[in-house]
Amino acid sequence: YRAKSSRSGHHVFVGADDDHGDSRLRMMEDLRGALSSDELVLHYQPKIELGTGRVHGVEALVRWQHPSRGLLPPDAFLTLAEDVGLMRELTRIVMGKALDQAALWRARGTPLTVAVNMSPSTLIEADLPERIAAMLRARGLSASVLMLEITEDFLMEDRARARDILIRLRESGIRIAVDDFGTGYSSLAYLRDLPIDELKLDKSFVFPMADDARAAALVASIIELAHSLGVRMVAEGVEDAVAYDELTRYGCDEAQGFHLTRPLPAAALDAWLAARNAPAIAR
Ligand code: C2E
Ligand code: MG
Ligand code: MG
Ligand code: MG
Repeated sequence: YRAKSSRSGHHVFVGADDDHGDSRLRMMEDLRGALSSDELVLHYQPKIELGTGRVHGVEALVRWQHPSRGLLPPDAFLTLAEDVGLMRELTRIVMGKALDQAALWRARGTPLTVAVNMSPSTLIEADLPERIAAMLRARGLSASVLMLEITEDFLMEDRARARDILIRLRESGIRIAVDDFGTGYSSLAYLRDLPIDELKLDKSFVFPMADDARAAALVASIIELAHSLGVRMVAEGVEDAVAYDELTRYGCDEAQGFHLTRPLPAAALDAWLAARNAPAIAR
C-alpha cells in the first residue's frame, strides 16, 4: 500500500494503480473486521492548563492495531471509514472506549475529562444525545466528563441545523470544542451565537510563533477575542518551550502538543502524569 491524498486532504491507502479497486476493497474488509474484532485502540493526549500546569482533560485519538501492518494513524483509515459508511460504528466504539477509560480514571480518584472527535456525519444522527446519555448512564458518569470536538465545516454546512444539534447536546451537559480553529470559514461573530465552550487553535497558527513576531501577535489577538466571547482557548501543536511560554503570557487557557507529550496509551499517560507530579484535578 501507499498513502495518497484524497480531496479532503486526508490520506487513503491505495494499491498500485492497476489494482486500486482491489486494494481498497481489501482495506475495507480489513476495517470491517477491525471493528468487530476490537482492533481499534485509543491514545490520549493531555491538555495542560497554562499557569498552573494542571491536567483536567485529555483528547482521545484513535489508532488501528492492524494485524500485519502495525499501528495505523487515523489519517490512514478515517476517510475510508467515512466513504464506506463505517464512521458511525467506529465513533460508537471510540466513544465506548473513551468513556470506559473515563470511568476507570474516576474510580481511581483522577477524574479526567475526555474529548472525542466527531465527524459531521456522526453529529447529525437524530438520537445522538440520547445514545450518549445512555452510554454515560451505563457507566455511572455525568455528562460533564465528556467533550465533543467538532469542526468548522460542520458549523458552516447548515448553520441552523448545526446550532440546533449543539444546543441539544449542550443542554444534556456535554461540552463542545471547535477543533482546528482558524482553518475553516467560521467567524468569531458567528461563534458568538453558538453554545461553544472551547476553541482549539489549529497547529498552523502555533507552529510559526517561535520565529515570527507577527504570527505571535495574531495568536495573542485571537485569544483576546475568544475571551471576550467567554470561550476558553486551547492551543494545539505546542512543540517547544518558546511557544509554551508565549501562550502562557498571552493568557491562553490550555496547551496540547509534543512539547508536553505525544498522545499515549492510557497506562503510559498514567505514568506520565505520576512522573510530573501534577495530580489531575477535576474541573
Ligand atoms: P486533531 O483532532 O486535530 O488531533 C490532534 C492531532 O495532532 C493528533 O494527530 C495529534 O497526535 C497531533 N499532535 C498533537 N500535538 C502535536 C504537536 O505538537 N505537533 C504535531 N505536529 N502534531 C501534534 P492524530 O492522532 O494523527 O489524529 C489526526 C486527526 O485524526 C485528528 O486531528 C482528528 O481530526 C482525527 N481523529 C483522531 N481520532 C479520531 C476519532 O476517534 N474520530 C474522528 N472522527 N476523528 C479522529
Ligand atoms: Mg481533535
Ligand atoms: Mg486539531
Ligand atoms: Mg484535525
